[in-house]
Order: sequence, then structure tokens, then C-alpha cells
Amino acid sequence: MSQPIMVSGTISAAMPIPAKRWTYLNNVLQNPGPFTNPDYDANEVADRMSNMKLLGAGGLGCEILKNLALSGFKDIHVIDMDTIDVSNLNRQFLFRHSDVGKSKAEVAAKFVEKRVKGVKITPYNCKIQDFDDAFYLQFQMVVCGLDSIEARRWINSTLVNLVDMENPESLKPLIDGGTEGFKGQSRVIFPTLTSCIECQLDMHAPRAAVPLCTLATIPRQPEHCIEWAHIIAWEQEKPFPKLDNDDPEHITWLYKKALGRAAEFNITGVTYSLTQGVVKNIIPAIASTNAIIAASCCNEAFKIATSTNPSLGPEDNYMMYSGNDSIYTYTFKHEKKPDCPVCGNLARDLEVDPTLTLDEFIQSLAVRPEAQLKKPSIRSEAKTLYMQSPESLRLKTAPNLEKKVGDLVVDGEEIGVSDPSLGSVDFKYKLKFSKLFTTATNAAAEKANGNGTTA
Ligand SMILES: [Zn+2]
Repeated sequence: MSQPIMVSGTISAAMPIPAKRWTYLNNVLQNPGPFTNPDYDANEVADRMSNMKLLGAGGLGCEILKNLALSGFKDIHVIDMDTIDVSNLNRQFLFRHSDVGKSKAEVAAKFVEKRVKGVKITPYNCKIQDFDDAFYLQFQMVVCGLDSIEARRWINSTLVNLVDMENPESLKPLIDGGTEGFKGQSRVIFPTLTSCIECQLDMHAPRAAVPLCTLATIPRQPEHCIEWAHIIAWEQEKPFPKLDNDDPEHITWLYKKALGRAAEFNITGVTYSLTQGVVKNIIPAIASTNAIIAASCCNEAFKIATSTNPSLGPEDNYMMYSGNDSIYTYTFKHEKKPDCPVCGNLARDLEVDPTLTLDEFIQSLAVRPEAQLKKPSIRSEAKTLYMQSPESLRLKTAPNLEKKVGDLVVDGEEIGVSDPSLGSVDFKYKLKFSKLFTTATNAAAEKANGNGTTA
């Protein structure tokens, strides 16, 4: 990386006259193209853009904000709860060393307002969950580069619930971008009309766990050795009472263990920072991938706002980008799921082993790709099975955690699951006792049903 790199091309600083900045954009806007309506009116489109209120949020924020401002949007609001950390400075280019400790949203807003005259940026230094429906109703579009699945699911369900069929203004296109190392995706959601983030949840399956037996017997990768130290060696030896991922002493212990294991199996590549990465589940953020994905999100926002070109959304709605192994991009239509807990109205089938305890069942909901619910409360048609809060209800329902699922509900019963981090959505599941266990539980089911059902 120490070799000098020559960059050629036009750099915007070479165009000092502000009006010049908009020349190309105006070309696109002023001239009807093959995709514009026959009655295309450039002034009307420009007007519409300047009156549009856009909301941006999240880790791709710097890129998104810069791109939206330079695409001609004039009223942009940005939410970010974080303050600037030294480690952000390598890629979040709106921040300087002197900004460390200040609010990301505020510093970014000021910077872009100063550089792009005529743009108003309103910052909010808080969480997206701090606002109610009335707040979200004021925007025409939401562009998100959030860094967590929870936040995505929350904004998705909020925008889906906002849709009022009588009021077309209530439908806010949601443009979502995300990256993971050299990979990323951008997608456009027209809430209730096209497949939503919840429909697509299995695209973000929790990372495939390595089977414990691989870790225990035949590790093949440095990561396997680290996971072995993390899961197996730590438990056996308990060098410290409780593993603290941020304690260098603890990480060093794991690193040395993993190193020993790797030597035993002739595996190379175990380093301190890889150990830290695996244990803390850190996904590297790569500046260029962020730039690619943010750019594609903002181009979609521009196309939706101006209808100069077809956007992602009505048909193909998902663009995945993979730079891991050379380059590959693929755009496709992710279908809406009729049993989506957020935008569908059917209860989703969920296979469950009735001999699990309710506690085990709740834990399994966290790792199921289509559920991923971390702190769910559960109700059956007849009664509350478990509530996380308020404390009095939690205490009252806690004894159920030890009971078997097959003793609490019957095969085919519908349950409602809610998770506070995901807003007001009620996930409806229809429990299907898995076949392996039906014979054993037939008797119980018959007793509970009062009729002789057979599997
Ligand atoms: Zn959906």
C-alpha cells in the first residue's frame, strides 16, 4: 500500500463556480429521455425534488448524505445516535480529528451544508426508534444505511404500518443499503406493495455456525481454532471467571490457545486481530464497498424522485454486490411472502419439537433465519405463555419456561410473538409439531384437543 497511486480524472475542486456543479445533473433533468413520461416537465420535476423531504440514517451516512446533496435534493434530515470515534476517521470523510466526541449527525450536517450551498440538512442525535409515526409521515422517502438487522426491521415495520390505503402520501419508499466487507446489497421497498425487509429476512441469516464436531476434531481454518479456544477451551479451563471481549488479557489467552491448536493441525493464519474479530464477530467495513452501495442507493432515490429512469422496486427490487471473489452483481425480484409477519396476513408455519421446554423454544427463535427474535414475549390463543416485561408479568409467567411446549399448546395452534426491539408488530406463527415427535405426543394432543387427531 506504500506505492504512490496516480489518480486521473476531474476532481470537483477544479470547478469553482457553484453553478457548474449542477451542469450534468441539469442535463439529465432538463432533457426528456426514453423513460420519461410524454408530458415530462423538467421544471416541475426540479420543483418536486427541492420540495421533497428525505430521511437518511446509519453507518453509510457520510456517503449517502454527500450523494443526496450532490444529486439535487435540498431538504435532507439525518438521524444518527453515535458520536465520532477516532476509528471512524479512515472512512467517514466528513469528520476531522477535532470532531472526535461530537455528534455524527450534527457534524456531518454542518459539513455538507457548508460545501453544497442551498441544501438544508436537519440532524437528529438519537435513535430512529425515538420517533413516532407523525415524524416519519413528513418524509417522501427514507434512505437507510443502517448497521443492524434490528434497526432495519424496526424502520421496515414502521413504514409498512404507516401505509393507509386511502392516502397514497402515506406510502414512503424505503431504500436500504448494507455492506459486509467486500459484499453489499441495495434494495428498494414500496411498503405493502413489494417484498419488505421482513420478507427478505432469510437473506441475512445469522452466520452459519461451524458444527461443534468440526471445532472439536478436525479444524480446517484459523477461525475454527479460534472458535475452539473460545467455545471449548475457555469452558474447560475457565482462566477468568467471565469472558470479557474487550479485555486484552482475555483475548490474549484465547489467541495463545488458538495458536497452539493451529500448530497442532498445521494451520496458519491465527493472529491477535483475527482472534479479536472472530470473538467479537467484527465485520470489517471497507470504505470503497460503502461508496459503491451508497451510490447505488442514492441513484435509486434520484430515479424514484424524478422518474428519469426505471428504479429498482416495482419489479426487480434487490441488487446484490459481491466483491469477495472478483466481482459479481446480480439483480432480482425478491417475492413478497403472503405469510410475512409484517406485510402479509397469514400466520407463518413454524415447526417445533414439542418436547423442548418453552425456554429452549424461545432461544431457538433467536437463531432461526426467518425469525431472529432475541427477546420475544409469547402468547397462545388462550393465554400468555411468557412476557419479558413488565417485571410482575415476567415473574408470573416465568414458571412456564421450564414446561414443555407440547404441554402448553396443541399442534396447529397459533401463537403471537412480539419483540420490543421491533416495534408494535405481532409475529403470528402456526405451530406444527415436528413429525418425529408426533407419535409420542399424539396422546397429549388428543387429551388437550378433546378429539382424536392423527398426524
Ligand atoms: Zn414482508
